[in-house]
Formats: sequence, structure tokens, C-alpha cells
Amino acid sequence: MAVKTLQDLLDEGVEGRGVLVRSDLNVPLDNGVITDPGRIIASVPTIKALVEAGAKVVLTAHLGRPKGEPDPALSLAPVAERLAQELGRNVQLAGDVVGQDALARSEGLTDGDVLLLENIRFDPRETSKDDAARGKLARALVELVGDDGAFVSDGFGVVHRKQASVYDVAELLPHYAGTLVAAEVEVLRKLTTDTERPYAVVLGGSKVSDKLAVIEALAPKVDTLVIGGGMCFTFLAAQGLPVGSSLLQEEMIETCRGLLDRYGDVIHLPRDIVVADKFAADAESKVVSANEIPDGWMGLDIGPDSAARFGALLTEARTVFWNGPMGVFEFEKFAAGTRGVAEAIVQATEKGAFTVVGGGDSAAAVRSLGLPEDGFSHISTGGGASLEYLEGKELPGIAVLEG
Ligand code: ADP
Ligand code: MG
Repeated sequence: MAVKTLQDLLDEGVEGRGVLVRSDLNVPLDNGVITDPGRIIASVPTIKALVEAGAKVVLTAHLGRPKGEPDPALSLAPVAERLAQELGRNVQLAGDVVGQDALARSEGLTDGDVLLLENIRFDPRETSKDDAARGKLARALVELVGDDGAFVSDGFGVVHRKQASVYDVAELLPHYAGTLVAAEVEVLRKLTTDTERPYAVVLGGSKVSDKLAVIEALAPKVDTLVIGGGMCFTFLAAQGLPVGSSLLQEEMIETCRGLLDRYGDVIHLPRDIVVADKFAADAESKVVSANEIPDGWMGLDIGPDSAARFGALLTEARTVFWNGPMGVFEFEKFAAGTRGVAEAIVQATEKGAFTVVGGGDSAAAVRSLGLPEDGFSHISTGGGASLEYLEGKELPGIAVLEG
């Protein structure tokens, strides 16, 4: 069944109605200061549309990983402040999740008001495996928007989680996909059906184990699968090469060997590597051939030849999905590989290719390397959710909107 969208809800009319919105406002914080407001900005269109239509908006979101109890360091206070700036209107922050303060404030809302509930993960029932516990929290959330309330799911970064504010509330209220969730799902659909070829996928980042399932799912469907980042060393080791003290997941070597046997014709590994004598911004570094990583040195980036070779493959592609940096881009010395690959993808976009960046660190790399955000067709806000979709898994937070 088709998912109802925010537009359907607006057409039905929301003036004076309580609307519960689940957004993904999980931004990186450094001592209480938001270092990348991307997810807040991406959440604004849905909230704004509801406010302008006169809804009483009750917003719920999480921040970080509190241990199921209030943690002042993970309060949504800085988020409320930034969101108010972006919306150009007041955003109230409740002092609790679904407690007395949230209830009193929700009863006092007038049309067009926005109330942000405190970090939903302060309540242990949010992520509980027990359906009854999650159900109770969901009912308390529903109480805040009243009997004629509605639920808008707009937190794409959490739709792969069966959690109270993502999944269970949708079973209790009329439910709609927000603009962000609808846009993300549309993009993922384009990456899995009638994909224009050549189709290139670039995978990097730190752990192979996180991305094995997506390699398995995508390798048979793509023309080019480029592997860089910390995960390439397990593949190099699978070819019998020495990797020094680079990141290595020994227990995955056998699996990587199997992938190389089956998909060797589409998988491209780096042939040169930037190695460092330690994991630090000021490490001593040099470029070596990928089959000559010296003992005691660690690979922190793909080398310049590999960046050029990968770049050439990517500029020719008509569809590109990129997840995971090619090196430790946080250190300027080891950012060139990621920059090279990202620039090639921007060129592909300029030539009319459909290009998607998924993954929190990859999106952060695009911004911190100063690349134009419009150099990509889409920058996803949800790494885990995108990967699970591409793996062919059902996303509970999407499936529930279909019912
Ligand atoms: P994303 O969030 O985009 O999915 P990941 O979380 O999988 O990406 O990985 C990002 C991290 O991988 C970055 O912090 C980066 O520093 C790290 N990384 C990339 N290459 C290496 C490497 N060669 N050695 C160690 N860490 C690496
Ligand atoms: Mg990450």
C-alpha cells in the first residue's frame, strides 16, 4: 500500500490539531556546541509546513546514547535553540519526555506552536525490546497530541529501528511520511530499480563488518565497486599482502577472500597507500605500493594513483553511491584520497549522473572538505538506514507507514 505523505495530511487539514513529529536531530556536539547542524536544517521543511498550516507541533527526537535516564550533557537544549533560529520562531523545550512538564506544555499549545520533548532516549522504554514497554511510551506520546492527533515520521536516520517514537506510535495514530523521509526513500528506490549504468559504488570507512552485507547485496548489481578507507586492508590481507599495523579485521579475511573470488571483476582496491608511523595529524607519512606496506606502518589514506584511478571510474558513471571516507580525512595529511574521490563524484554530477552520499562521516567529509553540497544529487541524513535499505532489509519505520 502506498504511504501517505505530509501533503496528504495538509490536505486533510491540521489547523488546531496536535501533530507528533519524529525528527532526526542527532547532531554532533562539542562541549554543548553543535559542530554540524545538517540534520536540524534537513528537518526544518516538514516542521515549517505544519507550523504554517496551524498545527500544534509536538516534536520528538534523540541525541547521542544516554543510558535510558536523564543526562544533562545530552539535553536537547542546544538543538531547541538552533531549531528556533532556523524556523524563525520560538521552540519550547519540555523539561521531560512525557512527564508532567511535557503534558502541561502540550495542553497549553496554540496553533502554530512548536514543543520539543526532551531527549526521547532518556526514557528506557524508547529502545526496549519489550513490545508492551514501548507501547506504553507510545501511548504517553499520543496523549500529548490528543484524540484527533496525527503522526509524521521524518527521522530518516532512525527508520531502521523498531522504537517507540519511530514504530509504535505509527500503529496508534494516523501516520504520514514527512518530506525528508519521502525524499530519502525515493532516492533509495532510484538506487535499486531501473538504475542507469554504469553504476558505481564507493565504500570506505573503518569497519568491513559494518558493510559486508551491503557489499554482498550490491556487488552483483553494479559495474564498479571501489573499496578504500580502513576496510580495504582486510581485502588486501585476503590477497595475502602485508598490511603493517593498518586496521585489520582478521575474522573477516576469509569472507573478503570469498567476495574477491566471486566479484573480483567489479571490485577495485587501491594499488598505492599513504602510510603513517602513528595515528596522528602530525604523523610522518609516505606513499607506498599497496603490496609493500612496511612493518610498523599503518595505512591512513589511499595513494594518489588510486585516487586518480578511482576518480576516472567515477566520472564515467551514470549512477554513484558513496558511503565511507577513503582515509582519515579528519587529519589534513590523510584527506586527499577522500577529496579526490568526492571531486570525481561532483564531476559526475555535473555530467548529469545521479549521485548519492550516505553515511554521517561521509556527509561530514563533504562539508569539512569544503565541497559544494549541490555537487551531489542527494546527501543522505541516515547512513545505517540507507545501508539496510540497500541490503534489501525491511525498514520497520517505513513498513509501519505502509499499513
Ligand atoms: P560513514 O559514517 O560515512 O558511514 P564510517 O563511520 O564507516 O563512515 O567510517 C568513518 C571513519 O573511518 C572516519 O572517522 C575515518 O577517519 C575512518 N577511516 C577511514 N579510513 C581509515 C583508515 N585507513 N584507518 C583508520 N580509520 C579510517
Ligand atoms: Mg560513521
